[in-house]
Amino acid sequence: MENGIYLVATPIGNMGDITLRALEVLQKADLIACEDTRVSKKLCTLLNIATKGKTFIAVHDHNESELAQKIIDEAVAGKIVVYMSDAGSPLISDPGYKLAKAAREQGVYLTTLPGACAAICALQLSGLPSNSFMFCGFIPNKEKARIDFLSKNSQVDATLIFYERADRLVKSLTAMQNIFGQREVAVAREISKLHETCHNGTATELVAYFEQNPPKGEIVLMVAPSGDSQDETADYSAELRLELAHNNLKTAVKNIVEKYNLNRNEVYKKALELKNNG
Ligand code: SAM
Repeated sequence: MENGIYLVATPIGNMGDITLRALEVLQKADLIACEDTRVSKKLCTLLNIATKGKTFIAVHDHNESELAQKIIDEAVAGKIVVYMSDAGSPLISDPGYKLAKAAREQGVYLTTLPGACAAICALQLSGLPSNSFMFCGFIPNKEKARIDFLSKNSQVDATLIFYERADRLVKSLTAMQNIFGQREVAVAREISKLHETCHNGTATELVAYFEQNPPKGEIVLMVAPSGDSQDETADYSAELRLELAHNNLKTAVKNIVEKYNLNRNEVYKKALELKNNG
């Protein structure tokens, strides 16, 4: 196995979601850089990976710049270095960015072992449009910052994905009522765990639900794009025209439907219109 830095995704709930490659790299690792050494040692033990002979170091946001060089030096010296989060994919609302950036700049071998990422799993569960989405990270906790942050992101024409804590969910949904109005919101909870749920509705409907049923556990909050169908038509018309110039009607429609997750009949109707209008 090549010496270098391996970014390893870990399960976000169900231990069965560890990958075969992750197990192999963890077994061979000399150095494991992680958020919390106790959590990562426990994970290794659960996965039957011997921790003896491996060095564990804790990397946090506040010491990542300083430790990045030390970790890179170990990789250059011939070590197999794993960087992993407590759960999920490194760098995604977790440390690892500074290390990856420095490794790239210095030409050190850097690779990723794909696996669970709460944002992507939540999007898959939500039934919200997945053709275009934006991951926005954690919602700020202070009232004004929260509203500014949500208002700024509401301008983006894509499904928005936020990480949120259970005890702040109702506050965020309440702020969303004015900002997102009737846009569909989804709350995915405890993904891949025993009590996995996903609730959809407007922000107002979800405030009512979660006030009655205070949420527990880990949460991803999502908001659908504004869904103005005229905008959608405008968005794909130009591309549909291009498709029609190069393909037959059936293929052009199929390509657009698959690319944008659209209703086939609507796209078919639009394609006929474009064709008939030359
Ligand atoms: N890097 C991780 C990832 O990509 O999955 C996320 C780390 S971030 C510090 C932790 C947040 O991810 C939680 O507060 C929650 O919003 C979300 N999360 C993690 N595991 C989850 C799960 N099983 N179900 C729902 N949300 C989860």
